[in-house]
Amino acid sequence: MSQKLNNFDMVIFGATGDLAMRKLLPCLYQAHAAGLLHPKGRILCVSRSQMDTAQFLAKVQSDSKIHVKKNFTDALWQNFIQRIEYLTVDVTQPAHFEDLSQAVKARTETDNVIIYLSTAPKFFAPACENLAKVGLNADNVRIVLEKPLGTDLYSSQQINTDVAKYFKENQVYRIDHYLGKESLQNLLPLRFGNVFFEQVWNKDFIQSVQITIAEQLGVEERGEFYDITGALRDMVQNHIMQMLCFVAMEQPKSLNADDVRDEKLKVVAALKPMTSADVDKNVIRAQYTQTAEQKGYLQEHNVPTDSKTETYVAIRAELDTPRWVGVPFYLRTGKRLASRTAEIVLNFKAQDNGLFGANANRLVISLQPDETIVAKLFVKQVGSGLDVQPAEMVLDMGKVSDERRAEAYELLLREVIDGRLNLFNRRDELEKAWEWVMPILDNWANSSVKPYGYIASSWGPKEAQDLLARDGNAWLEDQV
Ligand code: NAP
Repeated sequence: MSQKLNNFDMVIFGATGDLAMRKLLPCLYQAHAAGLLHPKGRILCVSRSQMDTAQFLAKVQSDSKIHVKKNFTDALWQNFIQRIEYLTVDVTQPAHFEDLSQAVKARTETDNVIIYLSTAPKFFAPACENLAKVGLNADNVRIVLEKPLGTDLYSSQQINTDVAKYFKENQVYRIDHYLGKESLQNLLPLRFGNVFFEQVWNKDFIQSVQITIAEQLGVEERGEFYDITGALRDMVQNHIMQMLCFVAMEQPKSLNADDVRDEKLKVVAALKPMTSADVDKNVIRAQYTQTAEQKGYLQEHNVPTDSKTETYVAIRAELDTPRWVGVPFYLRTGKRLASRTAEIVLNFKAQDNGLFGANANRLVISLQPDETIVAKLFVKQVGSGLDVQPAEMVLDMGKVSDERRAEAYELLLREVIDGRLNLFNRRDELEKAWEWVMPILDNWANSSVKPYGYIASSWGPKEAQDLLARDGNAWLEDQV
């Protein structure tokens, strides 16, 4: 059961931007509509544009309301927008922060201040510096940082160092919206709260692990952004790394943020570092290619025709821990794949006790589009004898409870308001993840080899199938 949240004052930088209009304000509305927001909680929207609150609200009405897909009523909406005020603040203008400080201080009802930087990361340093000049970095202030937090280890360290000059680590909330997914968080109770799983969740019983984030869409109109980003930076270093942490971590001492984050850090630190030769052998990068119906990546708007940016990556990784030594972790993500899914597959070792043949169980944990946990079991075939056949035991998380399931961003916003850091990345975790992907980025930057091709709307390049076939394994869609 969800509890009413603390009173709060949330300042959203980048409030006129796409993220604020499409996600932040609609998700705050959902929390409001569910009766979770404190009646006096206030949302102070700021950006560079010169306008007053009435003009901003007109923009919210046209650009944001359309993204409220559920639980909309006019009365609730009118009530919600009364929480919103607008102020012009150019991040690069120290004088504007005096106005901001006055606006925040004018409110005496709460000292629970949240600053959400929904702007390009180049603004984080000036924003933090200017916030500090007017005292908006005091211990009661939390700062939320949107991704991308860097494009490599160096730039990530730079951002974190800039922010750390003004904010203590326990004031910093780094967003990775995958952490807001119920089905990812559910891995902790699933693993450590059920006697079934924890005993067999290790190298003695598990043969391999697959983690997939697949998108059906191509780069659409975002070619310019995507071409300087690519699949590794966009998905692996952050979201896939979080999925890996939750699957592979040891039991934390407690559910306190730092105990959980300590265990996640140990997973990332245990990833075997890759040499350039390892990258050649264990990492597949590829681009989707043209079909009669669909453009290839190189034909997309704003993508250079000689681009080597990967729209697909598959990695064979290993973890150097007693629990996992020798177990391959296959990580992959891509655009224009056969279906949209985010899932974790645990392939168990085949057990043959001489009675029913060598049967291998499998557990598939889906995060999207459906939230399900599917166990492949072997059961008696109907009829004479005791031959077995595979069957699926399905847990549909959507049916476990009648409680409303909030979108990831709403859950994260609620956590920030109440000051819980569990679902946010700590600096050391983030930088360790960058450290691990750097040899891949360096290898690609120094290579003249072009990415492999894969047919748009397929399951990726043949080379990614070969990567698993080498170990005698296959991706989920190729398994029986
Ligand atoms: P956007 O649509 O380009 O909006 C940028 C915002 O920054 C606008 O509100 C703009 O205000 C403001 N801004 C620009 N220069 C400023 C300045 N000097 N001072 C104050 N404000 C300034 O960007 P977005 O898509 O919302 O993304 C924001 C951040 O979130 C980016 O880092 C992006 O990578 C990240 N992100 C976005 C999404 C998404 O779905 N959009 C998802 C994940 C992460 P004006 O309009 O007033 O100029």
